[in-house]
Amino acid sequence: MPENTLPKYQHYIDGEAVAPDSGEYLPTENPFSGETWALVARGNARDADAAVAAADRAFETGAWPALTPSERGRLLWKLGDLIVANAERLALIEQRDNGKLIVEVVAQVKYMGDYFKYYAGLADKVQSSVIPTDKKGVFAYTRYEAKGVVAIITPWNSPLTLTSWKLAPALAAGCTAVIKPSEFTSASMVEFAALFAEAGFPKGVVNVVTGLGAEVGQALVTHPKVVHIGFTGGSEAGRKIYEIAARNFKTVTLELGGKSPNIVFDDADLDQAVKGVVSGIFAATGQSCQAGSRLLVQRSIHDAFVAKLIEFVKTAKLGDPSQPDTQIGPVATRPQFEKVMSYIGIAKAEGATCVLGGVSRPDLGAGLFVEPTIFTNVRNDMRIAQEEVFGPVLSVIPFDDEEEAIRIGNDVNYGLAGAVWTRSLKRAMLLTDKLKAGTVWVNNYRATSFTSPFGGYKESGIGRESGTETIKEYLHTKCVWISS
Ligand code: NAD
Repeated sequence: MPENTLPKYQHYIDGEAVAPDSGEYLPTENPFSGETWALVARGNARDADAAVAAADRAFETGAWPALTPSERGRLLWKLGDLIVANAERLALIEQRDNGKLIVEVVAQVKYMGDYFKYYAGLADKVQSSVIPTDKKGVFAYTRYEAKGVVAIITPWNSPLTLTSWKLAPALAAGCTAVIKPSEFTSASMVEFAALFAEAGFPKGVVNVVTGLGAEVGQALVTHPKVVHIGFTGGSEAGRKIYEIAARNFKTVTLELGGKSPNIVFDDADLDQAVKGVVSGIFAATGQSCQAGSRLLVQRSIHDAFVAKLIEFVKTAKLGDPSQPDTQIGPVATRPQFEKVMSYIGIAKAEGATCVLGGVSRPDLGAGLFVEPTIFTNVRNDMRIAQEEVFGPVLSVIPFDDEEEAIRIGNDVNYGLAGAVWTRSLKRAMLLTDKLKAGTVWVNNYRATSFTSPFGGYKESGIGRESGTETIKEYLHTKCVWISS
């Protein structure tokens, strides 16, 4: 399509669509067809400043701080209904941008409605306390106060969902927000922003500025009026953001990368384990922070289990992600495709054995497909076992006993998740105790919920999202002393 006929997504600032200060736009591509289907505003520091100013005005004055927590909760509930009513439309846009399976994105977006409703219910249930003190004639109590303007910066793999994980608790707490989606997948966020006015949120409470991490992202994280940064993305960007936040005494929630172990013992239900291993690594074409990218298999069943796995994965249907029967879609962006292919080359050069896949599929769509790939003979010190690939590549590592499984499982800089497959309760208890990860699944993989905390140990992040405690990430505690 000629550029001048493409839809143009503007920033959303103070309740209005706003053209970028630079006048420049970035192309947004459909990774399956390879077509540029829309343009998104290329923000700069002046755009970031305008969005933060709007969020700050909304926080300090006007209708938002005048609302009671229950009233905020009612707005969040209404938004939840609007999300469900618009789920198919939003999902189609997001799916066009990141190439995820349509069935998966529709389910994810519908679930966001529940997510906002959960925090709608929590908004008026954050209770402070009266503190018994050792001072006579004075009385002390705590107040929870919203922190202020929150910057929310998200990646391309699940743009709307990962924004909700931060935005819903932030709004329930009474904060206001500026969202910067990934430059590869901004359109669904701009469309989503329009629902806030429809739900009745005052202007400026939620703003979206689009553009590059190094430009508009950097401007947001260094902005003096931003008090908290909610970031999901790679550990490198997370480290930079954390350093900037530390220098400026901002608080952070960082949800970063992973290299999670999926540990199969010889006493497991192996059919169930194969399914869990496959969804653990190949769902979302492996582009998921919680991917079980290291398969640790007890040596006694190693060969039989790998054979079973190959048989199962061979049947996977690659193709157009907008079709309901497709099981594996393209990699979401060209740079990511090149990164995945380069890791396949690295694994081969390191001496790992490619027993399935290991090649791209130029015949499919725009050629950003990678065959589901399995490497055996992987040592845990190889780069393919230590570094996040973020693609459909599984490294298989044998182990002898529980002690070795725990040692290998933990011998990595990440600590986002892990799973154990066994029929032994004793084994399961030992592994859930010893694995250094924010989530451990036993005989399942990927279960998450708005009710349960999610986050990482080590380089996988700081803080937790979802569940009741997350709301505190967006609140200051003030202690008030009263003398009669
Ligand atoms: P990325 O780190 O390159 O970018 C994420 C976001 O940060 C984008 O919006 C980008 O523009 C912005 N950004 C980049 N550098 C910045 C900077 N210096 N200052 C401010 N903003 C900056 O990550 P990505 O490639 O978009 O996403 C993939 C990564 O996300 C993977 O490492 C994956 O593990 C991680 N991820 C983590 C979780 C989780 O919950 N732990 C979930 C999904 C994805």
